[in-house]
Amino acid sequence: MEGRNVFETFSPKETHELGRRLGGEAYPGQVICLDGDLGVGKTVFTQGFAQGLGIEGPVNSPTFTILQVYEDGRLPLYHFDVYRIGDPEEMDEIGYEEYFYGEGVCLIEWPSRIEGLVPQEAVRITIEKRPEKGFDYRRITVQ
Ligand code: ADP
Ligand code: MG
Repeated sequence: MEGRNVFETFSPKETHELGRRLGGEAYPGQVICLDGDLGVGKTVFTQGFAQGLGIEGPVNSPTFTILQVYEDGRLPLYHFDVYRIGDPEEMDEIGYEEYFYGEGVCLIEWPSRIEGLVPQEAVRITIEKRPEKGFDYRRITVQ
C-alpha cells in the first residue's frame, strides 16, 4: 500500500468488505494501526480483515485482553487493543516485539497509547464519521 488512499463506506457491510480485501493483501510482518473513536467501526473492519486472512472463528474486540492471537488463517493475526495500557512497560510484559517484528500481521487499535513503540513503516488506517453525510457513512484513510 503506497501513498494515501481514501475510501468511503455507507454501511457496516462495506467496511467489512474493505477489511476483507486488505486482509487478502496482508503480508508477513505487516503492522497496521487502526485509529478512530469508539463505535466508528474498528471491530467491523477487523472482522473483515480476519476473514480476508482466512480466519474462520469469531473475532471480537479484545478490550479486556490487550492481545488476541488467531492462528488458523493464511498468516497469524495479532489483534491488539491497547486502550487500557497505562505504561509502555506493560507491552514489554506481553513481549510485543516478538509480534511487531514477527512473521504474522499485527492490527493495533488505539495505537496513540503506545506511539513510541509502533514501527516507523506501519500502515495507518483512520476511520472517521461525517455526521453531515449520514449515520452510516465512514471515511477510511489508508496510508
Ligand atoms: P469500534 O470497534 O470502532 O468501537 P465497532 O466496529 O464495534 O466500533 O462498531 C461500529 C458500529 O457502527 C456498529 O454498530 C456498526 O453496525 C455501525 N456502523 C454503521 N455504519 C458503519 C460503517 N459504514 N462502517 C462500519 N460500521 C458502521
Ligand atoms: Mg472495537
